[in-house]
Amino acid sequence: MNRTDHPHTFTQLNDLLDFLDLDRAQLTDLDPAPPGFGLRVPRAFAERMQRGDPADPLLRQVLPLTLERQTVDGYITDPVADAAAERAPGLLVKYAGRALLLVTGACALHCRYCFRRHFPYQDFGPSPARLERALTEIARDSQLTEVVLSGGDPLLLDAARLNDLIERLEQIPTLTRLRLHSRVPVAIPSRLSPHLAERLSASRLQSTLVIHANHAHELDASVCRVLHDWQAAGVMLLNQSVLLRGVNDCADSLIALSERLFTCGVLPYYLHALDPVAGSAHFQVSDATAKLLLETVRARLPGYLVPRLVRELPGDYAKRPLD
Ligand SMILES: *Cc1c(COP(=O)(O)O)cnc(C)c1O
Ligand code: SF4
Repeated sequence: MNRTDHPHTFTQLNDLLDFLDLDRAQLTDLDPAPPGFGLRVPRAFAERMQRGDPADPLLRQVLPLTLERQTVDGYITDPVADAAAERAPGLLVKYAGRALLLVTGACALHCRYCFRRHFPYQDFGPSPARLERALTEIARDSQLTEVVLSGGDPLLLDAARLNDLIERLEQIPTLTRLRLHSRVPVAIPSRLSPHLAERLSASRLQSTLVIHANHAHELDASVCRVLHDWQAAGVMLLNQSVLLRGVNDCADSLIALSERLFTCGVLPYYLHALDPVAGSAHFQVSDATAKLLLETVRARLPGYLVPRLVRELPGDYAKRPLD
């Protein structure tokens, strides 16, 4: 099959394996129909995987395994207690001064380790009435100075809706900062519009885009190009990663990621210890290993390229440093 004949987004395991020239026999434990959280991989992301490599670090992030169905002690459906922090539907207030606004349940890419994989997104749909309630609540609480647009993925909203939302937030006088957390720049770089960067840089609110890349291979030339456009527009660019066994749990890989991020105009921000979400135990890296890895990274990179190794504990007022 010609590569361009492949689906725009892979939702069937066989199609993805075909695209990558992988034989099912090269992979064990595959789950072709994972309940509740299916395969979802944009072709633009799959194109950055190494064909024929069953251990490819990008593939491992999205490959559904039957292991995910196992019950493991300590791995639960809402490990970060999002449900308890819900102040209005889709509005989470967990951290001082900051509100998380979940503007859509959809994601461009399904990451198997995701801490929100069991989140009841269907209840958090971006209906106009719900959004009104959330905006009213944000305006009512003068302690809130920053809104983090999250999801799902806020950059999957269409441009007009996103623009409306930014306008509404700009009208709340107590807000000074706006943050977008998105995997779209990495998952589907062509969806990242330079107009949005210009819109944000012209905003009264100081804007930051926090991307999510776990491996240097995610940041190919197409991704780097759009990030440079955003950097040129004056939007602060940061990255968060999750430390994942079989993906980025070696110092060389973390160092390459930091260096590649900087080349693309992005500073490493967080390296998250895995949240113990049900179905993700096979990605777990021990704290001892995580700290050792960070020691090596710190010994080899300038301080500004060393991410903060953190863990989220339910009920905490901030991420907790591990090292
Ligand atoms: C931790 C966290 C934030 C905010 O973290 P900062 O420490 O303010 O950067 C926002 N969204 C999610 C999903 C988080 O886990
Ligand atoms: S893009 Fe983010 S929210 Fe969506 S599945 Fe991946 S980690 Fe989860």
